[in-house]
Amino acid sequence: MIIQNKGQWDESARARHILILGLKDKQLGQEISEQVKYFNYQCLFCDSLESILQHVKSPQNKDKFGTIILDTDFCTPNEIEKLKNIAESLPIIFISTHDDVTTRLLAVKAGGQAYFLCPIEFTSLIEKIDELVTPLSESLPFRILVVEDSSTQAHIIRTHLEQAGMITQVLMDPLKIKEVLTEFQPDLILLDLYMPMCSGIELAKVIRQDDPFVGIPIVFLSAEDDLNKQLTAISGGGDDFLTKPISPHHLIGSVVARAVRSRKLRSQMSEDSLTGLLNHTRILEQLDLEIARAKRNGSPLTFAMIDIDHFKEVNDSHGHPVGDRVIKALARLLKQRLRKIDSIGRYGGEEFAIIFPQTHAQAVFKKIEDMRVGFSKLLHRSSDPSIEFSTTFSIGIAQLTDEIDTLDKLVHGADRALYLAKEKGRNCTVCLMRSKLE
Ligand code: GH3
Ligand code: MG
Ligand code: MG
Ligand code: MG
Repeated sequence: MIIQNKGQWDESARARHILILGLKDKQLGQEISEQVKYFNYQCLFCDSLESILQHVKSPQNKDKFGTIILDTDFCTPNEIEKLKNIAESLPIIFISTHDDVTTRLLAVKAGGQAYFLCPIEFTSLIEKIDELVTPLSESLPFRILVVEDSSTQAHIIRTHLEQAGMITQVLMDPLKIKEVLTEFQPDLILLDLYMPMCSGIELAKVIRQDDPFVGIPIVFLSAEDDLNKQLTAISGGGDDFLTKPISPHHLIGSVVARAVRSRKLRSQMSEDSLTGLLNHTRILEQLDLEIARAKRNGSPLTFAMIDIDHFKEVNDSHGHPVGDRVIKALARLLKQRLRKIDSIGRYGGEEFAIIFPQTHAQAVFKKIEDMRVGFSKLLHRSSDPSIEFSTTFSIGIAQLTDEIDTLDKLVHGADRALYLAKEKGRNCTVCLMRSKLE
């Protein structure tokens, strides 16, 4: 499932939708089209409700479109049924110059999912589009580690879980638990109770000794039906006990319920609240893991640091809340443009850090330059809606090498490159090569 593209950018995992625009104001249409482009959305301009309906209902267009952005002036109250019909297939975002209840009610009755008043704040519009087009299935599949000494049992469990769309790994040698946890990063561990080398309870205690693994749920799966023994297992660090034989339905249900909760909990602990990106601590922990993995596999690893240019001026001229919106817009751009295997963190106030596994610095350079140019063209709206402004960022890139071979050196390398980018005049990318490291 992981995209193993060595230095290549496979955008298929991030293929975006086409947005249908039905707007009276052609200039606004152009402006929206320009802005959403940087978030990988394309626009299709339609000049009647009829033509929108035709596009939406055509079977060959299934899954092609993301949302409809519709001017309230584009439709009349007697077209509500037609609109409802459209809204059943595709979410509608209304855009309007009217702030009266009658028009707002029309939008609600027509099945509209959102209502944006002109002048539009593009960042909020894009945020809404993202929310509407991202299906739940796009979230990463659950990763389940099955620790089991019987290969037959392991095979059965694995087959059930994989049929339900999960990624599994089987571990038969409990002594390798740490390597596998680091490498595979499971959302949940299914643990056999009786194994020759050690018991499941002992292994659970070993797992719980290690800080990074404290949060991973451990579910025992065993034929043991003695309730007392089950209780001992749970008090020893397990979270649940499932008794074999178990129906696939019950197994999958229990695993998914636990994995969902654990992911949610872990993301709350590890995410920055403004942007939803990894927080400072988590991005560095992740970098540590990726360095170990890259060294083991002999694969490249690149680390980048981004800092918004003259951000103080943004705050001073437009206010802190507007500054926050700019930070969010950049976070969103990074999330959309990068691959699922990349880790993105908010390193500090207006600083971001990105880990690019299996990727050389040259490939990162190219990708990030695209994003830099895109971001610089993005328009932000000030607290006074008549004022629009744009802003830029600088980037420092460093790659793991024989010399730059530790977390500290890699972070220092990217930081130093970022400093050089600022010195060069900002709005540019500097890639630190081995010889330049001080
Ligand atoms: P440059 O990086 O180009 O050298 O200039 P700068 O103005 O961006 O420099 P500096 O790093 O000194 O300033 C960063 C400013 O970012 C300072 C702080 O007030 C602001 N900031 C930090 N965190 C946040 C935040 O969460 N929201 C907002 N709105 N501003 C923040
Ligand atoms: Mg066993
Ligand atoms: Mg800064
Ligand atoms: Mg800055």
